[in-house]
Amino acid sequence: KPLGLNEIREKYLKYFEGKDHLRLKSFPLVPINDKSLLLINSGMAPMKPYFTGDEVPPRKRVTTCQKCIRTPDIENVGKTARHGTFFEMLGNFSFGDYFKKEAIPWAWEFCTEVMEIPEDKIWVSIFLDDDETYNIWTQVVGVSKDRIVRLGKEDNFWEHGLGPCGPCSELYFDRGEEYGCDSPTCGVGCDCDRYVEFWNLVFTQFDKDEAGNYNSLAKPNIDTGMGLERLAVIMQSVDNIFEVDTVGHILNYICKIAGVKYGENPDDDVSIRVITDHVRSVTFMIADGVMPGNEGRGYVLRRLLRRAIRHGKLLGIKDLFLFDVAKEAIRVSEGAYPELKEKQDFIQKLIKIEEERFKETIDQGLSLLNKEIDKVIETEESVFPGFGAFKLYDTYGFPYELTKEIVEERGLTIVAEDFEKEMQAQRERARQDRKNSDLAVWADDPFNELGSEAVDTFVGYNNLVTEGTI
Ligand code: ATP
Ligand code: MG
Ligand code: MG
Ligand code: MG
Repeated sequence: KPLGLNEIREKYLKYFEGKDHLRLKSFPLVPINDKSLLLINSGMAPMKPYFTGDEVPPRKRVTTCQKCIRTPDIENVGKTARHGTFFEMLGNFSFGDYFKKEAIPWAWEFCTEVMEIPEDKIWVSIFLDDDETYNIWTQVVGVSKDRIVRLGKEDNFWEHGLGPCGPCSELYFDRGEEYGCDSPTCGVGCDCDRYVEFWNLVFTQFDKDEAGNYNSLAKPNIDTGMGLERLAVIMQSVDNIFEVDTVGHILNYICKIAGVKYGENPDDDVSIRVITDHVRSVTFMIADGVMPGNEGRGYVLRRLLRRAIRHGKLLGIKDLFLFDVAKEAIRVSEGAYPELKEKQDFIQKLIKIEEERFKETIDQGLSLLNKEIDKVIETEESVFPGFGAFKLYDTYGFPYELTKEIVEERGLTIVAEDFEKEMQAQRERARQDRKNSDLAVWADDPFNELGSEAVDTFVGYNNLVTEGTI
């Protein structure tokens, strides 16, 4: 019987405890004292102060399994085998302690001896001129040169603005030709699902200064990140991250509620996987204190909820369902994340309220949207008007991205600036209304201004765009 996801997590943390690492529990999804990031998107993100030296870590070697949210991956969800907006990242970290010559052989030992992954299925990528890493892989570990690929800065150099940065080395699993694509250059780094990247070893050995120089750090760091669900895909020989044991229970539950069979209709399968993923995201986000709203994290939450609800519609689900599926999401993860069980009632209630709210407008909104799309197509235009998107947002509660997605499914495009213009015009109208009303004396009241801004201003879109950057 293959290892379960929960067993794999435990084996990883144990392995690194055996290498003198301190096991810390996952940090919350909401960053602490870090305004540069909306939601935690990697194991190292909450540990930045340990890397920069702003805080002293509890030990120089730490290992975690960190809950992560990556909304920039949202369009891949359900389509690729390997992307979720929610996933767990295993990691081992060295704060100025051990470096490459320990981290690389340990990664290899864990994969090939603890997980028993066949050596010849593992490929390795390194940064172009990082010969130190190349030599460790070939001479110390003994990986065949044929399975080492040198990749450029985009893939294999970790850098965010100034400060600590450095080359990476990634591990890929070859799932075989049947998963390959037709591209003649298909190989490690290809976007298809044959070579699945599952572990990223980051060697923060430089400090980039204002002049753009890369100065070597006296005490370089190690930061590694491995997708737990991806490793489970490998260990359990399943097709994608939604079919591993724990996550698969959620998927099956959705099929049961919808009365559809998984694996019969590719479009349905995408919807099933999208809901499976999004329900995990929203469940974990609410457990960590995020509330649905019109901006920032609250907007991310609402957008995920509404997108999942729409995919429920596509599957033909008539009743409220997401709050019920959340129960299953909690059940399969509560062992490792007791906060889910503790907040179960609250999580389910909140999701239900959001479902009820959206239920009132989604049908009308969808029918209006489809009519508008038909109109555009009839006139042989290709661009969906910003006003339409605005109306759907304002009257029917459709997040801009949801409208965009549906519009694009029908082969049209939409211009974000057109939508923004309408939002701006709305703000202007509201301002004028306030001035013209009997309450004109209050119009200059700064609190009045603040209150209406907080409710009306659509800032989610901008925030989402910046979210990908740390
Ligand atoms: P990819 O190229 O497949 O998008 P990445 O290079 O963006 O992955 P990293 O930033 O290197 O990923 O994150 C470290 C590890 O976290 C990855 O090797 C992978 O195992 C896992 N991971 C990253 N993004 C996701 C995701 N959206 N869903 C599940 N696992 C992920
Ligand atoms: Mg990625
Ligand atoms: Mg990658
Ligand atoms: Mg990577």
